[in-house]
Amino acid sequence: MFEDNRISSMDFGAMSDEGLIDALRTAHGAVAAAQAAEVFAVRELYRRHRAESAEPGPGGVRAGEFAAAEAAVALHADEATAGALIDIGLALEESLPRTRVAFGAGRIDLAKVRVIVDSTRALTQEVIDALEPRLIEAAGRTNPLRLRQAARRWAARLDPGGAQRRRERRQDDRDVRIRAVQDSMAVFDGLLPAPGAQTVAMRLREMSLQVCARDPRTMPQRRADALVALADGSGGLRCMCGRGERCPRSGTPIEQPRRPLIQIGIPADSLFGMREAPAFLAGYGPIDAALARLLAEQAHFQVIPKQTEDGDPATTVDVARQESEVRAVDGMCRFPGCVMPAAESELDQHPPFGIRRRGPASRAHYAVLCSRHHRLKSLADSGKSRWRAWRADLDRLQWTAPTGDVHTTVREGARYLFPHTDIDAPPPLSTVVHRFDPEAEPRPFSGDRPTAEDLSYPLAGHLPLHGQLSRLAPEDDIPEDAPEPTGTTL
Ligand SMILES: [Zn+2]
Ligand SMILES: [Zn+2]
Repeated sequence: MFEDNRISSMDFGAMSDEGLIDALRTAHGAVAAAQAAEVFAVRELYRRHRAESAEPGPGGVRAGEFAAAEAAVALHADEATAGALIDIGLALEESLPRTRVAFGAGRIDLAKVRVIVDSTRALTQEVIDALEPRLIEAAGRTNPLRLRQAARRWAARLDPGGAQRRRERRQDDRDVRIRAVQDSMAVFDGLLPAPGAQTVAMRLREMSLQVCARDPRTMPQRRADALVALADGSGGLRCMCGRGERCPRSGTPIEQPRRPLIQIGIPADSLFGMREAPAFLAGYGPIDAALARLLAEQAHFQVIPKQTEDGDPATTVDVARQESEVRAVDGMCRFPGCVMPAAESELDQHPPFGIRRRGPASRAHYAVLCSRHHRLKSLADSGKSRWRAWRADLDRLQWTAPTGDVHTTVREGARYLFPHTDIDAPPPLSTVVHRFDPEAEPRPFSGDRPTAEDLSYPLAGHLPLHGQLSRLAPEDDIPEDAPEPTGTTL
């Protein structure tokens, strides 16, 4: 493996082309071996968690459930990534011993290991044993995409009768999710059984053709708008040809869209256009002020008073209102690295993080936590988990991991609502007057689509083979039902 000082002393400028390619190969092998070490380490952490925390049932720790949280917090990665690493580690150990060895030696990298794990997931061990050596050999001379195609072809040849079984197992992997990318855009991604996917595709196409031919949108743009129209209740596309009554489709009935089911935090002066501080779209992150103003045209408003130095004066005794203020200033789950939107999270109230209550409850006594991390904190509060959480001050929550590492989270939503509190931000540049000039603006070309692939962990969209890992990402957690009320009811 490369040592830091060796890399900085390597003179790439003096190398021949052959020397550079050699260095590239050596470096890639070292990366692969390091990735293997990560997978084996997190898998072992999971094994220990499982061994020590089997206390099933409500209120107990499900075996191994917070191993991914601990690894994700330590690596500053997300829990779905840590969960995918665990899943791959388990699969290597259970059924792919040769792949495990080749990975550990740096002969195949994580991207290809992932392909091998994916391609063998629904095969019998007998078929895997015949296929695995071929895949490892092919991995040495091809890229992940071609490896995936070859694997599919060979699996079909070795196990022709297995197609139905594989299809049935694959249906369990159906999923739809979104991933934030830059420029106020998100990738909407999914895996559906083919007939269902085709149903959606045909419906979007049908809706795309409901507008007249002079509608300026391309088919891809219309399909995208149609998908949102399915969800917002309008059920159809309004033609944008601008011809009003003369548009042949002007009679098509379109329902009024429902108000968006999203939450946006925006500073008051940005809302009124006096300033361009970014707004916060819960679950996504920063969006530009102009987009927020556009969305605000059909929004409900709630004014959030600023937090003061010596605590929050209880601005209201209305509990529901206070709760929604906490959701606004927290913005998202307060566990380190978690981005679950506040609106889909729970409010944690007890114990009040070590601060004695003065007077009526205020925002300071609450924190937003998603269902998964609310569970983690409740278990920690009752001594059933080795995590600890306490409030350092009105803004900061501190989390101590079982290993003793301390992580701090702040009220993220407040950074947007009150931009002057964002003291970690770089200082503003001297005022730049920005005029939108469509000619000068660099235009994204169609090949420049945002992607959400994480370069250090090529695991986006990994579907765990191990059922117990399928709830590891906070967005996949299923909250427990509230306890049934006991006693007589009418
Ligand atoms: Zn039209
Ligand atoms: Zn969370």
